[in-house]
Amino acid sequence: MRSLHPLNKMKYLQIEDTVNKLFEKYNLKELPVDVENFARFVNLDIFYRDIHGCNKVVLVKPNYLIISNFEDEIKKRIEIAHVIGHYVIHSKLSHRIMEIHHKIFDEEADHFVRALLIPLISVNLELSREDMINIYKVDRCTLDTRLSDLGCGDFNEKKINML
Ligand SMILES: [Zn+2]
Repeated sequence: MRSLHPLNKMKYLQIEDTVNKLFEKYNLKELPVDVENFARFVNLDIFYRDIHGCNKVVLVKPNYLIISNFEDEIKKRIEIAHVIGHYVIHSKLSHRIMEIHHKIFDEEADHFVRALLIPLISVNLELSREDMINIYKVDRCTLDTRLSDLGCGDFNEKKINML
């Protein structure tokens, strides 16, 4: 595994493990992962509201998720997954600590996003990046970072060489 952003390997594996346990617990197998349903599994109540006309997902403690105005389905999925990540990984932390370490917590939540939307067990390197983007309903950057974290960042080049 290559160096993983500012996240240490231990934390990275813990997040992966947390997501895998949730997949097992809720028997999730379908792709793309339904993030709104997943939010409900982890006991978040979802409300759809217009927050000043901006794209936003807001976590209201203890367990409300407010989703506002997304036209781009992929951005919406990623935002929701990010906030679920904070809720699952950081629920025991106080607001004060969250503010101090904001950047590292965001990295952790972003890793949660990739682990949730691109489940390790489902990754099939026979598929092209385009196919994967369609299957997982993620953007290219999320997919590329995930593949790179899994040590398969260069698989497409190999594929191209074989053609
Ligand atoms: Zn965040």
